[in-house]
Amino acid sequence: MVQQEFQQSEQRPEFPLPPPEDFPETGLSVEQVLSDVGDLMKLNPIAVEHDFTASYVGPPHPLSQLIPNLVAGTFFTEWAREIQPAAFRMEKEATRMMASLLGRPEAVGFITSGGTESNISALRLARNLAGVAQPEVVMPESGHYSFRIAAEVLGIKLNEARLLEDFSPDMAHVESLISDKTVALVCSIPEGLFGQLDPVEEFSKLAVENDIYLHVDGAFGGFILPFMRDLGHEVSPFDFGLPGVSSMMTDGHKLGMLPVATGFFLVRDEQMLEAIPTERTVIHNLTATKNGDRAAIAWATMRHLGREGYREKVRHLLELRERMVAGIEQIEGMRMAVKPHVTVLNFTSDIHDVETVHQQMLSRGWGTSYLVHHGIPCIRLSIHPNKKREHVEAFLSALEDSAGSARA
Ligand SMILES: *Cc1c(COP(=O)(O)O)cnc(C)c1O
Repeated sequence: MVQQEFQQSEQRPEFPLPPPEDFPETGLSVEQVLSDVGDLMKLNPIAVEHDFTASYVGPPHPLSQLIPNLVAGTFFTEWAREIQPAAFRMEKEATRMMASLLGRPEAVGFITSGGTESNISALRLARNLAGVAQPEVVMPESGHYSFRIAAEVLGIKLNEARLLEDFSPDMAHVESLISDKTVALVCSIPEGLFGQLDPVEEFSKLAVENDIYLHVDGAFGGFILPFMRDLGHEVSPFDFGLPGVSSMMTDGHKLGMLPVATGFFLVRDEQMLEAIPTERTVIHNLTATKNGDRAAIAWATMRHLGREGYREKVRHLLELRERMVAGIEQIEGMRMAVKPHVTVLNFTSDIHDVETVHQQMLSRGWGTSYLVHHGIPCIRLSIHPNKKREHVEAFLSALEDSAGSARA
């Protein structure tokens, strides 16, 4: 399933559903329902520690278990800021902390349900600000499929630019797709397929020259690149420090170690939000009421870890990545399909049937994604900050066995 999300699939995947079920007349005991939930959890074929398919898979920071009791029954949404000021304030303060991390303390925004909502919000804002008929957006074809949803629901034509051999966007093609109907440029740090960082500096230059909105999808990058820079890695400029960047998003629920359904959408200047129509019930974002725990957990986790704590997590994550890359390359015939920049890796083989290796890994209880990019069969991995060295070692030994079987 996971890989289908990432493919521009021609075929409609099957979604088998359970048969119709009555709404229960009599309630079951707490013990019974808890035990049933426990049983159903056994359906998940891959243990959390063994799953390298998606970066949502991994336990969030332990604070996410301690806080829900403190904020039970609370929520946040703009119209309820006076009756529920606590979670609203934590949302806004957490958003300001992210804004500072991404190079612009004055930026404002929202906690969203994740990257998809953030990306749709960005294109909505860009379209409204431009106010042109038949709006268009230019994005490298490696951009996330949430932009395709956005284009569909917002009535925008999405012009996708080709990629070069190394999976980076063909910037000449990006530039050639810009017209007077273009309401936004989109780039990603990194895009989710190959883990490649788009050249935000070049996008920013195009945005300034052509006076176009630029949205940066930092689903992964927002919670890793600032700390990589702190750790002395060479990181090209990617954030609001670039003058052309109009908005950014990042997913707390990926490398931020926050629970699923926590994203951040940030805009450069508060007054940009005036392009969003409001009524007496003020809602600037796309989905309204959210559980107070999303805001409280984000606020508390960021204050607890601080830059220092996240830097340590990132240092660990990069060590795991290095070990993973070295271990994969030690297996005969295996090689990286593309140089990894953050925590998304793609590897391939000239001597093994890569799809069989992937199937073998699954049958050994390890989660990997299989994709074919530009005719190159790849296994894609995404490393979560809560993975341990022992998980990587065990993964590598399973990979060696799987490669052996796939060759036989
Ligand atoms: C994960 C991801 C998203 C959106 O993800 P959600 O599941 O909606 O949080 C958007 N862009 C990129 C590059 C991603 O990796």
